[in-house]
Amino acid sequence: MPHDDHDHPHNSELSPIELRVRALESILVEKGYVDPAAVDAIIQTYETEIGPHRGARVVAKAWTDPAFADWLKRDASAAIASLGYTGRQGEHMVALFNTPYLHNMVVCTLCSCYPWPVLGLPPVWYKSPPYRARAVKEPRTVLAEFGVTLPEGKEVRVWDSTAEMRYLVIPERPAGTGGWSEEQLAAIVTRDSMIGTGVAGAPT
Ligand code: FE
Repeated sequence: MPHDDHDHPHNSELSPIELRVRALESILVEKGYVDPAAVDAIIQTYETEIGPHRGARVVAKAWTDPAFADWLKRDASAAIASLGYTGRQGEHMVALFNTPYLHNMVVCTLCSCYPWPVLGLPPVWYKSPPYRARAVKEPRTVLAEFGVTLPEGKEVRVWDSTAEMRYLVIPERPAGTGGWSEEQLAAIVTRDSMIGTGVAGAPT
């Protein structure tokens, strides 16, 4: 393992953005503008408490409660906030309902916009340039690489996130899950199914 970063800048494990963020953080800490413990606490919250299990609960409720599903369609921000899921990067939410004729898929072509309050931090591939470019150009190929093959006639609609708008895909409820509780249903809602690069798991 090379350790001399001065001679081998390209071997650094940090990306240029990460290096800039690290430099910025040191300056802010040094000047007393931010408390490193507070930054750690925020990161830990997003790593441990806020995650896809929240979005899964939104989906499970939409599957079992038609009034909630209707609210989600009309005003996703308010419906999601009613479950206590609010905060940065989730102020303006739109729920995209998959149907037998339509599959929705979410990307941020410009950067990495993602609905943090319901999905936590974005996975690395979501932020990667190949996904951001190819999701729009060849969504079916990208889906196939995620193991998702859709019927020929099913339309694929790709949604580009913006700083203002964040999307949560409501996957189709799998057949054979009639009578399941919200908890049971939430357990089969994967993160990828809520980004649109997956489908909700089949019952085991
Ligand atoms: Fe973005």
